[in-house]
Amino acid sequence: MGRIHQLPMSVVNRIAAGEVVERPASVVKELLENALDASPSRIDVALEQGGVALVRVVDDGGGIEAEDLPLAVTAHATSKLRVAEDLERIGTLGFRGEALASIGEVSRLVIRSRTPEGIGAAITVDGGRAGEVVPEGCAVGTTVEVHQLFGNVPARRSFLRAPQTEWSHASEAFVRTALAHPAVGFSLTHNGRRIHDLPVTGSWRARIGDLFGIELSDRLIEVEADDGEVSVHGFVGRPEDDLASGRLQHLIVGGRPFRDRSILHAVQEAYRGLLLSGRQPIVFLAFDLPPDAVDVNVHPAKMEVRFREPSRLYRLVLAALRSKFLAANVTTRLEPPLSDAWPAPRLPEFAPFPAGGPLRRDPPPLWAATADPAAGTPPAPGSAAAVPMAWEIDEAARTGVSDALAVQMHDRYIVVESGDGIEVIDQHALHERLLYEKLKASVDGGGLEVQPLLIPEKLDLDPSELELIGEHAATLERAGMRIEPFGGATVIVTSKPALVGDTPAAMIVQEVLDRLAATAATGGGSSMLVDEVLHGLACRAAIKAGDRLSQAEVDALVQEWRIVPESHHCPHGRPTSLTLSRQDLDRQFRRT
Ligand code: ADP
Ligand code: MG
Repeated sequence: MGRIHQLPMSVVNRIAAGEVVERPASVVKELLENALDASPSRIDVALEQGGVALVRVVDDGGGIEAEDLPLAVTAHATSKLRVAEDLERIGTLGFRGEALASIGEVSRLVIRSRTPEGIGAAITVDGGRAGEVVPEGCAVGTTVEVHQLFGNVPARRSFLRAPQTEWSHASEAFVRTALAHPAVGFSLTHNGRRIHDLPVTGSWRARIGDLFGIELSDRLIEVEADDGEVSVHGFVGRPEDDLASGRLQHLIVGGRPFRDRSILHAVQEAYRGLLLSGRQPIVFLAFDLPPDAVDVNVHPAKMEVRFREPSRLYRLVLAALRSKFLAANVTTRLEPPLSDAWPAPRLPEFAPFPAGGPLRRDPPPLWAATADPAAGTPPAPGSAAAVPMAWEIDEAARTGVSDALAVQMHDRYIVVESGDGIEVIDQHALHERLLYEKLKASVDGGGLEVQPLLIPEKLDLDPSELELIGEHAATLERAGMRIEPFGGATVIVTSKPALVGDTPAAMIVQEVLDRLAATAATGGGSSMLVDEVLHGLACRAAIKAGDRLSQAEVDALVQEWRIVPESHHCPHGRPTSLTLSRQDLDRQFRRT
């Protein structure tokens, strides 16, 4: 007797469920897609316990006929495709006819629905066993409830993470989908608490603002390109609003959020030279192309799509962004801020230094103790030390020519003569390093100067950010950032370290959250977390590449660079300056 046999349908479904349903977030995504395919004006999502106990999605779309309910929960049954050719031009989000069957296999699934013409009816599927269709009074539209996900599959349930983690994935799935459909109203509730309420809007920028905060959306730059067949439209962040992660990079095609390395590569390419390495821009891009130019049937959870001509999209994205960035002089700021909600860049006041700091010629007291006493006071111009003797060059390299001319170039580098050659200083890297060292020394020494905000800055966060802030409130406070809940997903920042000057709290908080999330994920201890916050503060408050400095500011930076022993490297470990040694120069010019 042969050993190969056909699997029963229930096993096939259970295997398919493994591909489609990974966690509550996948349920949210599939149910939202189904609801959207029914042309609703509004969708309400409610979760309990991160979606593990319950995911409920209510729409006011076209509904399901009572007689179709048993088919809706059967595998490979769909109203969205008939013949294989339909796969070439998919106009709906769903088409595989798999989601409800898979979900019903691993939970208790209840569907109540009514079409405008029909009567209301309900069906329950419990661990793969579908019950009878029963009449049920309900409004036009569909309510789908998924109770106790993986309740009947303990092995898979044990793979679920803590409800808070599942919640953050689920809310992310909600956000990605809601972002792609501004013309539909959405709400999201968790454990009875309303997290998002998104009104119908005709404007994508408005939806971005409702999801991520008006301060952010107001600052975005609109981009657009069209090559006759394919077009892209969207919003991108200013280079200086970069983030530590790609969290705010959203790509959409045909109402479908998707991931695509090649397109993100084009984005990176467009920002090349405008961002520090490892930094990520904010991008929201929606593509419009003929249905037969994109294949959405390449990924069970439909997270990825395949384009007929990927290089075409690559070029289009590059063109759309470059026309905004590179046509303008990249070293100057791109546009004035669009709203007063986000104050203009600090320069030229150079606020990150404490009052009087940068222009003072002698070392700030903070450094007096640690700096080499010989290096502490720069020699007077014309004194013997200003002309280092050959054998003194090594130790005098950073101090010997303190009054040498320092020149800012390309609004990003400072070039200065040093004891044994020419130094090229990266102004952002250096300033970041200096700020970080000062912050760290004052936190460690217990003397952090905190600046209470007379008018607290209000921030709208997304749920996972809110949670992260709650978790790390003590860490943030140690670093001088006091953040308090203000109802809903809003918080207020009531104090910042004085050293960060008037850098907007919104920018700092985004940066710090990204870093906290990354460090917490690697299991970093509390001192590492404080350190990450300080890095984030320094990075945001530091002058940027592209900031034009006054000569006094250039001199002040160079002055500190000479006297702060740790200023060689920025906190990311990148060098803050490069040396062109006199020896090398001599060799290049064949003087030796
Ligand atoms: P697919 O979406 O790939 O067709 P599903 O298993 O997700 O497969 O859904 C099966 C069918 O159930 C859909 O084709 C659709 O006809 C119907 N359906 C599911 N959810 C809804 C809803 N919210 N409103 C109307 N019809 C729905
Ligand atoms: Mg579906």
